[in-house]
Amino acid sequence: MRIARNHIRMHRTIGEGYFGLVMEGEIYKKQTSWTRVAVKISKSHVEGSISLANEAVIMAKIGIHENVVRLLGVCHHKDSLLLIMEYAEHGNLRSHLLLQRNTNAEECTHSCPTQKAFLHALQVAKGMAYITSHKCIHGDLSARNVLVGAGNVLKVSDFGLAKDIHYYEFYKRKTPGIVPFKWTAPESLIDKIYTEASDVWSFGVLLWEIATLGGLPYPGVPIEELYELLTKRNYRMKQPPNCSKKLYNLMVNCWNELPNNRPRFSDLVGQTQQAMSELEKSDTLMQDAQRSGEVVTE
Ligand code: ADP
Repeated sequence: MRIARNHIRMHRTIGEGYFGLVMEGEIYKKQTSWTRVAVKISKSHVEGSISLANEAVIMAKIGIHENVVRLLGVCHHKDSLLLIMEYAEHGNLRSHLLLQRNTNAEECTHSCPTQKAFLHALQVAKGMAYITSHKCIHGDLSARNVLVGAGNVLKVSDFGLAKDIHYYEFYKRKTPGIVPFKWTAPESLIDKIYTEASDVWSFGVLLWEIATLGGLPYPGVPIEELYELLTKRNYRMKQPPNCSKKLYNLMVNCWNELPNNRPRFSDLVGQTQQAMSELEKSDTLMQDAQRSGEVVTE
């Protein structure tokens, strides 16, 4: 949908990326006055406009899902393109996780962080399963590219490196461009081949970011050694402290060296749902036992 420039107001900058700038703004809605939105603007060079146009086409193709940031329209202004998106009031997931580091532990029961981690995992997996079902590859999945909307609903965003693979089942990257190295599957680094399985690898790294409340992956590993460590020595990140074995297994499965042996996003939805219901069951059992005096918690 094309939106008239005079129906858009822009206020403050909320983010800046390689090709674009993101601003908080408002769009005019008939009779109901103005609605808060996020406006992504290409920096004036041609590369930026092409990247933003690609982003808009992919977002329009993917369509509407609760766990995918929604495109509301586009607007041409002078020689740049404006991309109008739903506004996610809590910003990106990485900043959100970092804020949780300061949460008072007493506000949570012991299992709360694990439940929250699985809930985050489930929402991103649902968004990605939807994107995959529309034959699109994200290509840049990470906590900084997931947004947190009202009611803490997670939304996959930033389709700047996304690709439509409708006719090919995979995408072979031709341009050098920027590569989010620590999130990228080894086969994509070398052969530049992107598939659902390479997005699943990145999802594993995102799970690690969730488990460490916004940690930077591969701490202490020199970036120039990473590829060799992953492919020749089968190195993988260790189980982070306070991360449940189940969540760790989930991420390790996403890092299988053989892309075909990694789970699909639809599998990951099922597995996280199951992990959550098992956690709920064990919590209920624990509460029942506490009420009947069988367990002393001190
Ligand atoms: P780039 O592709 O240029 O890196 P992003 O799409 O990743 O840009 O956006 C950069 C930052 O802007 C995000 O990390 C987030 O903090 C903020 N942002 C982007 N889109 C929205 C949105 N729809 N609602 C709220 N904040 C957003």
